[in-house]
Amino acid sequence: MQTYAFPGNIEEDILQISAQQIPYMRTAWFSSLMKENEKMLLQLIGCTEGRVMFFTGSGTGAMDAVVSNYAKALGKAFVIDGGSFGHRWSQLCDYYELEHETMVVPFAHDIDYDELDRRVAESKPKVFLCQHHETSSGQLFDLKHISSICKNYGVSLVVDVISSFLSDELSMDELGIDVAITSTQKGLNLPPGAALVFLSKSALGVDFCHNNYYFDFQDNLKNLERGQTPFSPATTLFMQVHERLERNLRIGIENIIANTRRKALYFRAKCQENAWQIPAECPSNAITGFFVNRNADIMFTELQKKGIFIMPSGTPGFFRVSHMGIQDETELDELVEAIKEIEAR
Ligand SMILES: *Cc1c(COP(=O)(O)O)cnc(C)c1O
Repeated sequence: MQTYAFPGNIEEDILQISAQQIPYMRTAWFSSLMKENEKMLLQLIGCTEGRVMFFTGSGTGAMDAVVSNYAKALGKAFVIDGGSFGHRWSQLCDYYELEHETMVVPFAHDIDYDELDRRVAESKPKVFLCQHHETSSGQLFDLKHISSICKNYGVSLVVDVISSFLSDELSMDELGIDVAITSTQKGLNLPPGAALVFLSKSALGVDFCHNNYYFDFQDNLKNLERGQTPFSPATTLFMQVHERLERNLRIGIENIIANTRRKALYFRAKCQENAWQIPAECPSNAITGFFVNRNADIMFTELQKKGIFIMPSGTPGFFRVSHMGIQDETELDELVEAIKEIEAR
């Protein structure tokens, strides 16, 4: 199988970690593994005095946790809805009855930052909720711009970096991000099942709300002191996280990003050769979103018959190819040939 869907192809030895007997987790060994995980993650995301909470759940669990514990504690939110993931922020605000204003950004477009500045000035929110990379289209937003607007108006910045962490350049300290979230099945190139919430030093000072029992920040932070989670963690997944983070630190963040970018640029050149249009104004390195020209209705299933997975979407003719995980130019060539063959039928 060749997968260009998240999390991409994973090294055999990392897969094997979860194919063993499961060690007990209420032990000094597991506590120290989690403490090391936290330290390595903070280093990779450039957050010096923060904390990382580990939740067993998918990425949306982290979004849910942040809205119910953090945003709800601060008050009015401002949401960037640039696609299905941005839309999820506003659905969560509705769900937790948090007052919010939403700025809708058209499919695959960048934000109009002048308009954003005006709207934030008028709206006077307390907290800003956005994506770094809107994975539904491939569009990467400019966090420097967003961050300076938030700083100007004293708005706390929360960023979903689920699909940009380890793919695109990012530093929580430099950008003044208060809360960031990610999950295991994207940049970490691991099985799905764990969501990570990064809290900066300033976010740790907030008096969190308590309306989410499983995802309660205070309870999780208290347990984190001893390297534990309040409830059963996905033990072997956190062992895989540990192995992945050690490797990532050895490789170095710049090299990881450069490697993903190289694959993305290689595939985009092929898209251009085949007139597969890429709509994102400013594409993330994480994925390439592109339109095929023919046979879009059978593309996904016919590729699947060849043992290849790409990601379909709600937009007709639009597909996404992830550049995370094991992938080289030869494999991308094979993918291109397979798509061409199906288009030519
Ligand atoms: C994948 C993703 C999520 C979370 O999706 P889950 O299916 O809950 O893991 C959230 N935001 C973005 C930007 C994503 O790419």
